[in-house]
Amino acid sequence: MKQSVKLIAGNWKMNGLAASLGEVETLREALAAEPAACRVALCPPATLVHRLAGAVAGGGIEVGGQDCRAEASGAYTGGVSAEMLKDAGATLVILGHSERRQEFGESDLLVSSKAEAALRAGLSPIVCVGETLAQREAGEAVEVVRRQVMNSLPLALAGQAFAVAYEPVWAIGTGLTPTLEQIEEVHRAVRAAMIERLGLASAAAPILYGGSVKPENARDILAVPEVGGALVGGASLKAADFLGIIRGA
Ligand code: PEP
Repeated sequence: MKQSVKLIAGNWKMNGLAASLGEVETLREALAAEPAACRVALCPPATLVHRLAGAVAGGGIEVGGQDCRAEASGAYTGGVSAEMLKDAGATLVILGHSERRQEFGESDLLVSSKAEAALRAGLSPIVCVGETLAQREAGEAVEVVRRQVMNSLPLALAGQAFAVAYEPVWAIGTGLTPTLEQIEEVHRAVRAAMIERLGLASAAAPILYGGSVKPENARDILAVPEVGGALVGGASLKAADFLGIIRGA
């Protein structure tokens, strides 16, 4: 993972069928005509990882999963392991997304063990953290995020390729975003916690911002100090929107 170049990663969540690969083809063609100044990744549902990896092969677009189990294999009906994602063509995996923390009760400890599983399989984890609206309103955003970083990043990440994504829960899919000052404040706190936890070896790992990133706000957000890229949900589903964000990096 090159650390100085920004990473723009799309999270398709539970969206996308084979027909969605047309958007990927459009994206691939646009990036072939005018290469991105950043790393570009798409994280489709597990059912599409293999096909999407085939569709972007040689096109410079990285492919990731949206979650994995901590175990490599076994009696976990419905589960997908890091090894399976890697085998399907992924090089990245999103872990600890707030939708998984909320819907599936994922704890920092579980996220940490999933990050270890990702490393074991040769995947780069993108570990998500972020405060709820109630926590922000209570003035606890920095403290909450710092605690998540300290407890969700396993020590094994020191010196490895990985990213952290700061995604305020209240900004995901809502059209709301923090001010640029608030983004900078939390990103600086995330960086300090990463260094405290993993040492200076983690100083170059990118910290992505996520939460209602659109072509209209991407350039400003990506220019904030310590913002090393973006994790993009809704706006990654359409090639034109995603490209608009990529061009802002
Ligand atoms: C996300 O789900 O990671 C996300 C940032 O979503 P959106 O861009 O739609 O707010």
